[in-house]
Amino acid sequence: MGIRVTVWNEFVHEQNNDFVRSIYPRGIHEQIGGYLREQPGLEVATATLEQPDHGLTEEVLANTDVLIWWGHAAHRKVRDDIVDRVQGRILDGMGLVVLHSGHFSKIFKRMMGTSCGLCWREAAERERLWVVNPNHPITRGCGRYIEIPNAEMYGEHFDIPEPDELLFVSWFEGGEVFRSGAVWHRGRGKIFYFRPGHETYPIFHHEGVLQVIGNGVRWCAFDGNTETIGIGVCSNIAEPIEELSPKDYVEGEIEHPSESLAR
Ligand code: ZN
Repeated sequence: MGIRVTVWNEFVHEQNNDFVRSIYPRGIHEQIGGYLREQPGLEVATATLEQPDHGLTEEVLANTDVLIWWGHAAHRKVRDDIVDRVQGRILDGMGLVVLHSGHFSKIFKRMMGTSCGLCWREAAERERLWVVNPNHPITRGCGRYIEIPNAEMYGEHFDIPEPDELLFVSWFEGGEVFRSGAVWHRGRGKIFYFRPGHETYPIFHHEGVLQVIGNGVRWCAFDGNTETIGIGVCSNIAEPIEELSPKDYVEGEIEHPSESLAR
């Protein structure tokens, strides 16, 4: 079985803005999904805000290895119980790839625990995403940098927790810099934030950008040990593997654990 990817898009601008629709006639989710479907080893589905449960039912999430998130105008319309559900799956091992304005989505802010604020400017300026971590699977094939001729600027300070690894730093024509590719571990899940993607520029037609999204999907997919004592559970009493000796315990009112286990 391949990596099961669900591309989530709020799918608002493409329906209410003719210019955005001219760039993404089938929606950003189908543009990204269409690229990923051509890549080996990926099984790709899409989901949007208007679907029941935003297309993110228990069953969909249980069958998703990596969720890609694109949102901008409708972050507040995403139901909190669905955010809880997505968070639970991430802690259980689902990967999350957050794109561009998804920095302000409920799920990204939830997983980061910070405001995720930044400064921005929409002036169609040149962006170079410099690879600052060449020995990482996500930057494979990027060369020294990716260049985007017309981009919205995102600038520091980007209020995120210190990344586990920083992969890209962007330079903009106007002079700003930005940590535009970074990863974090949360529970058993892995999270990749990638900056490119403003809806009025054809950025998800850029081969280099799409390649990084594909790399990110592969890196975020669960690749570890499923034998754990339970996710988000703190009430499990662990049976000792070795026989415990009472001599290690101070005599008193505290009961030795082997006595309570023996009952
Ligand atoms: Zn934007």
